[in-house]
Amino acid sequence: MLNNGQYFAFNIWDFESARAVIDAAASIQHDVILQTSTGIYKALPAGVFSNFVKSYAANQGIHAWLNLDHCKERETIFHAVNSGWDMVMADGSSLPIQQNIDFTNEVVSYAHSRGVLVEAEVGQVKGIEEDIIVRQDTIASKEEIAEFLHRTDVDFIAVAFGNAHGEYQAEPKLHYDLVEYTTSITDKPFVVHGGSGLSDEILTKLIHIPGVRKLNISTDLKMAYQRGIEKASKSWSQPISASKIIHDEIMSETVAKMKLL
Ligand SMILES: [Zn+2]
Repeated sequence: MLNNGQYFAFNIWDFESARAVIDAAASIQHDVILQTSTGIYKALPAGVFSNFVKSYAANQGIHAWLNLDHCKERETIFHAVNSGWDMVMADGSSLPIQQNIDFTNEVVSYAHSRGVLVEAEVGQVKGIEEDIIVRQDTIASKEEIAEFLHRTDVDFIAVAFGNAHGEYQAEPKLHYDLVEYTTSITDKPFVVHGGSGLSDEILTKLIHIPGVRKLNISTDLKMAYQRGIEKASKSWSQPISASKIIHDEIMSETVAKMKLL
């Protein structure tokens, strides 16, 4: 079950990147979460894409779940709920806590009645991730985390604890106490955003905190894609060989992360 294990969630952007992540997960026989930003979601043929992910993963002998990452738009969230996505992130993190709670509850009631899980965020994770640009992070307070968990029925909880999207400009100052506090007051799975650029040592430390169950990786995969493009352009022969070089680069980055579990 999605809300029992411990998973990496990789942001993919098309059918090929999804295939590379599924191949990586299958190579070590571990289930995986694939996620799309709101922009990528809109660029994909949603129903066809979710069918592809499910059937390709089944063919490879694993389970792959689809999450709509960081979505602030009700209509897009509802569309994903009805298009085969397994979970959606209702991102009300930029709103005052009361409005974040209301938005989350509205999404929870819609999604749960259709068998779809919901992630939400307290505090706001800074950095740049495609269409999400946050200059200043708002570290969550313990009071807000407790209130949010008490007044919503989310399935996955993300908290801004000093983590960031995109590349870290400096060594991040992570508030591990906030992660530990959150997992001590709830059994809801904790989500680590901004996993890219965190050292294996930090990721392993987070993985060992009981209750940390989903770790998001986006930028690292895009950098692997870029390395693949560069390699492929140097040894150009046929499109199929270029595709394979890019595929293998994404795949090995994915495997390296998943082996930390
Ligand atoms: Zn995020």
